Amino acid sequence: MVKRQEKEVFFTTEGVWGGLVSVFSSLLCRGCGAEGGYLCERCKKYILRGFQPREILYMEEAACAEEKEAARELEKIFQRAEFLGFRDELLGEMVEEYKYQAVRGMGRVIGEMVYEMYFKELLREEARERKGGRGCSEVILVPMATNRRHVRERGFDHMKLVAKGVERKARGRVRVVPLLERAKDTVQVGASDKVREAQAKGAVRVNPKFLEGETGEFSEEVRRVRVVLLDDVWTTGASMKEAGRVLREAGVERLNGLVIVKNRRGASPVIRGGEMGE
Ligand SMILES: [Zn+2]
Repeated sequence: MVKRQEKEVFFTTEGVWGGLVSVFSSLLCRGCGAEGGYLCERCKKYILRGFQPREILYMEEAACAEEKEAARELEKIFQRAEFLGFRDELLGEMVEEYKYQAVRGMGRVIGEMVYEMYFKELLREEARERKGGRGCSEVILVPMATNRRHVRERGFDHMKLVAKGVERKARGRVRVVPLLERAKDTVQVGASDKVREAQAKGAVRVNPKFLEGETGEFSEEVRRVRVVLLDDVWTTGASMKEAGRVLREAGVERLNGLVIVKNRRGASPVIRGGEMGE
């Protein structure tokens, strides 16, 4: 087990100089350097061309019994578990900058991309299902609950802002509902899957205000609607699986898991303190 003591350093854009730096850098596209925003229309189009979400783990790719078991476990929790890009791609770099340099304004842009890359098609599918008597006119988006210390240090809840970006773009068809909250604020630093899994246990819980008194479950509405659990980075999946399990136990029937980025297969995972869903 590799244990690293790491402290996250956030370069907040506070103060006069920080303000100037953030105003200036916000003018430049992270893809091509063009002026006019974090991501220009051409680079957006480039990312979206022929884009399809990919499964995080799937049976055919599983190289060993352990991986097969992990894929099976994921299938039990989520009807679909997908990711949108790799960490070394433009979107991944933006997520990294947003998260570790606390570039608040990027949350909305990333959220809009998540809408285009995922929710647009999901809403179409829901509409098709609705014709067959299933499916709902809206989708519930649950942002992964963030470590409270990191929210304080960043000055904002980064997953909530991304979720709000999706919601804005979806115009009433996606509703952000914080069904999860942080139960304990342990930062996951262990490198091995087992260690991370143990740390993730009990890290999130259902926000009690959404539970109904007698049953201790979510309302009928929440149980039936399509729920998408959203996290930023997939490392070992420990926190995603744990959060998914918690939602399913409280009665969510139609649950999708979505992470924005993951490591390339075979690439050594870059583990930074508090990376997962924090
Ligand atoms: Zn560009």
